Amino acid sequence: MKKSLIISLSIGFILLAALFLALNSYLSWWVDTGFLDMLIELLPIYLASIVIILVGIFFVIFLMYTKSRQIKPLVKEKIDIKEQPIDISKITMQEKTVLDYFTCGLVVLKTPATVLLINKEGAKIVGYRQDKDLFYFMADTEFYNIIEAREDAEVHRIIDNKTFSFMFNFDGENIIVLIEDVTRLRAAENIKNEFIANITHEMSTPLTSIVGYADLIKQGMNEENTKNAADTIAQQSIRLGSLIKGILNYSQIDADEIKNHKVDLSKTLKESIFNLSSYMQEKNIKIDTIIDEDVMVNSRHEHALDFVNNLLINAVKYNIEGGNIAVSLTKEPKMLTIEDSGIGIAPDNIEKIFNRFYTLSYDKTDIGQNSSGYGLGLAIVKKIALKNNWKIKVESTLNKGTKFIVNF
Ligand code: ADP
Repeated sequence: MKKSLIISLSIGFILLAALFLALNSYLSWWVDTGFLDMLIELLPIYLASIVIILVGIFFVIFLMYTKSRQIKPLVKEKIDIKEQPIDISKITMQEKTVLDYFTCGLVVLKTPATVLLINKEGAKIVGYRQDKDLFYFMADTEFYNIIEAREDAEVHRIIDNKTFSFMFNFDGENIIVLIEDVTRLRAAENIKNEFIANITHEMSTPLTSIVGYADLIKQGMNEENTKNAADTIAQQSIRLGSLIKGILNYSQIDADEIKNHKVDLSKTLKESIFNLSSYMQEKNIKIDTIIDEDVMVNSRHEHALDFVNNLLINAVKYNIEGGNIAVSLTKEPKMLTIEDSGIGIAPDNIEKIFNRFYTLSYDKTDIGQNSSGYGLGLAIVKKIALKNNWKIKVESTLNKGTKFIVNF
């Protein structure tokens, strides 16, 4: 309003100034030619024009002022809404239509069975039919009790395999219920809780062992038993360390903000094979390699190394004493295969091996002692593959061996 008034007044003054300047510059010419007398005669017309201009200006100001007045009541109403309960009868058809576009359900009740306002999504969730009493909130004892107690609350319900959150708010006489689909949120929470439960479970076994053997040492043992106990403590500590490393690796893949870059997979693969050479020697395993040079993939060096390491470790771990491994990395097509002559995987289990903390138990005489893992290796492999859009295929025959094929 202030701005428009200033603009209008300025225009008015400019017009007046222009008029008087024009009069002034032509005054001498008017005197000489005798026009002045005539102009004096026309003075009432000039004055009338000035009055008309002024009236015009004030008319514009008036229009602007009334327009701003139209907005004011809305602002006032907004304040009132905060202070007073919402009057449902004042909600226009247009506003009701807008509510129908909401992805969450809105139900305003007068009593548990009387609907004052409901949007499309709300009606769908609670199964409401126009002009009929609503039994949904009556039939649920917890809902009914919340409404009776008139205390804000949030309750979850499963409807058609989806989890909905019902948020109750009380506004004067009105009972406002906001219904939101929280299925995905709950699923994510469940995954997190399951992950934590798995970690706790996996950690408790080595920890119990460490604490138990440390206690025995404290109580006093002969030299040989003390040495055995210390060995077990050392072994379990290493296992615990590898579990923590696995968990960190697994969770860091997603958290990693650093961008991918070109990684020389040929070099990474050779590095991984070299690192595992003593492990292979321990089990007397022979390895055949065909590795094309300069096979470049879009990834991170640590991720690519973790990826091939986990596949190769398994090829050794689940191999038989004196078994074979064949590794091939080709440039065209860009493909890696790691094949072992190990114990193989039953067809039913092939899908599950990529699940977190999924492990199959074996007769340790087949694969050697200390070979049990935590079921994180292939979960890491899967995560890295998903992140980089690599495709993994597994072919396996029980007691014959397993082949992992990766297309980049
Ligand atoms: P782990 O730490 O138990 O090795 P992984 O996630 O690496 O966990 O593997 C999950 C399961 O998949 C293993 O327990 C094993 O039963 C099976 N598995 C993985 N690789 C092989 C393989 N090359 N041969 C046979 N079984 C395998």
